[in-house]
Amino acid sequence: MLRSIRLRLLLLYGFTFSIALGGLGLFLHYELEAIIVGAVDNHLHSEVQLVASLLKEGDMDFSEVGSGDYGVPLSGHYYQVVSDGKVIARSPSLSIVDAYLPIPEPSFEPIYRMDVGPGKERIRVLSQSFRVGGRVFTVQASESMEDPYAILNSFRRNLFVLFPSMVLVMGVLIWVITGQGLKRLLYLSERIRGISDRNLGERLDEGRFDRELRSLVRGFNTMLSRLEGAFERQKEFFSNASHTLKTPVSIIKSYCDVVLSRERRNEEYREALLQISKVAKGMARIIDQILDLSRLDSREFLKSSNIDLLGIAEDVVRLLSPSAIEKGVTLSFNGKRIEVEGNRERLLEALTNIVDNSIKYNRPKGSVDIRVDSRDGWALITVSDTGIGIADDERERIFDRFYRGSGGEGEGKGLGLSIARAIIEHHGGRIEVESEVGKGSRFFIFLPFSSSRGD
Ligand code: ADP
Repeated sequence: MLRSIRLRLLLLYGFTFSIALGGLGLFLHYELEAIIVGAVDNHLHSEVQLVASLLKEGDMDFSEVGSGDYGVPLSGHYYQVVSDGKVIARSPSLSIVDAYLPIPEPSFEPIYRMDVGPGKERIRVLSQSFRVGGRVFTVQASESMEDPYAILNSFRRNLFVLFPSMVLVMGVLIWVITGQGLKRLLYLSERIRGISDRNLGERLDEGRFDRELRSLVRGFNTMLSRLEGAFERQKEFFSNASHTLKTPVSIIKSYCDVVLSRERRNEEYREALLQISKVAKGMARIIDQILDLSRLDSREFLKSSNIDLLGIAEDVVRLLSPSAIEKGVTLSFNGKRIEVEGNRERLLEALTNIVDNSIKYNRPKGSVDIRVDSRDGWALITVSDTGIGIADDERERIFDRFYRGSGGEGEGKGLGLSIARAIIEHHGGRIEVESEVGKGSRFFIFLPFSSSRGD
């Protein structure tokens, strides 16, 4: 297979152009031949009619026809009159050399044909019979085709020189033009090759490219923007992660420094180790969450099965009841048994994060309600709380990694909701939030139904 666009274009053009020119040449050749032969036939027809009119007048003197080329021996211009199979008159061009044209069968319809003349030249002959005074006369006239065919041959020779030269010149032009066109493509590929993580901010100037390449350049620029965004988010994520982990590490370090600054009693060492273990436990949780997010980012395959959302709500209530009781918040669930396809463990984690927040950011004697339902062809879990609510400008940001709102408290590091969203999106769903500051919030988790649903 040809791997060069330029060569392929050239061959395609060469093939098409040669076929087109060849067809045109054949057409012109046959047209020209038809015109030339038509002109000769017309002339022969007038000659035969002239001889016939003389015959009809009873005039056997054909000298007025026999002038010019008809008087030159073997000139190719002949006529002869035949009756009863005998030549009764012929042009001087024949009689001088005592030659005859081949004698045809009488026919009252004009018959044109090609033949070989007495001088071995190609001739065009017209034969037509006429009845005059009860006798049948066949009049023949001929004209040499050597000159007309010489014109045709020269025309053919010219075509053989002209057309290949045209194909060649056009081929060179196509080669140059495609070379020019491909130069921009090569430039584009060079620029693409020059892009690395260091210059992701650079963009190609669409205006510098041909119209056909602009959508490619636009697509490339959009891809760069997306990559740049992803790189930035990654960088921000790493810097946030390092900052978040820095605090517990410095707490552990300062505990160690203080404790080691002098001799301590056993209880003091024990107390310090307990504190260090508590901080380390918090750190381990943050690291688990970071790993969780990175696995979800790489779209790691999650084992999935048909799971009952009401069952998950029930488990979440069981898991979080102790903290709800501690906070003085009533926790409840209700709704229909709805099945979706997914990873039970992960969906349980997502719902736990959301409900955990609803308890954390609630007021004493408040409530949290989980409802499993369906809406507009989606399975829907609604988590409603009577908590502090979320301000309008914070509503979208609460799903960002490491974002902690003004109401953020305790051990949370701003990863819970981002993990929940990543898990839900991994399942092909989406999460939305409605909230009123001071009154409470409502989180809506939409999930696609499992394909085996009989609903
Ligand atoms: P955190 O560990 O801080 O709870 P999350 O990602 O779970 O992190 O939540 C991000 C922020 O969103 C929280 O700091 C809090 O300000 C806000 N938030 C989340 N859920 C609620 C809720 N139910 N009511 C009020 N604010 C909430």
